[in-house]
Order: sequence, then structure tokens, then C-alpha cells
Amino acid sequence: MITACVALGSNLQEPAQQLMAAVAALRGLEDSRLTRCSRVYSSAAVGPGEQPDYLNAAVMLETRLTPLALLDALQRIEARQGRERELRWGPRTLDLDLLLYGDQTLNLPRLQIPHPRIAERDFVLYPLADLLPADCELPGLGPLTALLAARPGADLQVVDLQLPEEHCR
Ligand code: ADP
Ligand code: MG
Repeated sequence: MITACVALGSNLQEPAQQLMAAVAALRGLEDSRLTRCSRVYSSAAVGPGEQPDYLNAAVMLETRLTPLALLDALQRIEARQGRERELRWGPRTLDLDLLLYGDQTLNLPRLQIPHPRIAERDFVLYPLADLLPADCELPGLGPLTALLAARPGADLQVVDLQLPEEHCR
């Protein structure tokens, strides 16, 4: 089994419910087990035009799926929740990004791991940090503590919402 981390984001059609439904779908993922959920965070949208605020979170899975099979599964869940790919970084019902897959790095046209925006986006980094030991190193990115120190997380707020998982913190 490989430990993988997945980011969840939504800013359309009841984001809280979108995240809940996504976690339920991820719990049902074949050849995988959901082991941890982050706290839920809200932030203002970055991207084109005026957009509603985002809710973001991250979950940890133990999985036997290959990285591409896992990406396929994540994209099926996005599609089932009405994701439409029109505008890059436009508003979305659900975005599921594969952040980490064990200690592997991968640079395919369809899939880069670690996810290229981990270090640049508070709304990815902080949920991910909830899942990981403080002293861990991210492949190709260095110590988690250094990444967090470089990004104070000032634009993020923790939301009073718990994802439906017994290991949630
Ligand atoms: P974004 O998440 O960057 O806002 P999308 O969700 O529309 O945008 O994804 C665009 C493309 O990014 C997808 O078609 C997918 O193939 C690719 N991609 C590359 N690396 C990853 C990753 N680690 N996780 C998810 N998608 C990825
Ligand atoms: Mg995405």
C-alpha cells in the first residue's frame, strides 16, 4: 500500500456538501482506505473574475491504485459531482488534486507529483500539513516546516465543519 494525499476544493453549489460528498466517494474508492482528513479551510478565490469563496481540505489514503489509476478515479468523482472544465482556475463544484503519492515524483503531461502548486498555495499546503508529521520532508520540496514558514497562511480561515471520518482532527 502507498500513502497518498488528495486535496479537495469547491466554490460552487454548496461547497460544504460538495466536500462531504467527495469524502464519501473517496471512502468508497476501490483498493484504497481513507485514513485521515484535514480541517476545512475557507479562502477567497484566486483566478479569473469575481468568484465565490472556496472551501478546501485534504485527505490521506492508503492505496494500491497506481498514480494514473488514482487520478482517473479522482476525475470520475469530479465528473459525478458536476465538474465542468471550461476556464482554467475558474469556479468549480469540485477539484480533486493528487498532492503526494508516497515519496514518488512524477512528471507526466497528465500528472505531476508532488502537485506543482503545493508550495505556492496556502489552501493546499495547510490542509496537507494537517495530515503529515511536522518533521516530514516532501519529495523535491524539502521540509514541511520550511514550506509553512515561507507561507504564513494569513488568507486562510479554519471553518467549523468536520469531514465525516473517524480519524478527522
Ligand atoms: P487545477 O487543479 O490546476 O485548477 P484542473 O483540475 O482542471 O486544474 O486540472 C487540470 C489538469 O491538471 C488535469 O487534467 C490533470 O491531468 C492535470 N494534473 C497534473 N498533475 C495533477 C495532479 N497532481 N493532480 C490532479 N491533476 C493533475
Ligand atoms: Mg485539479
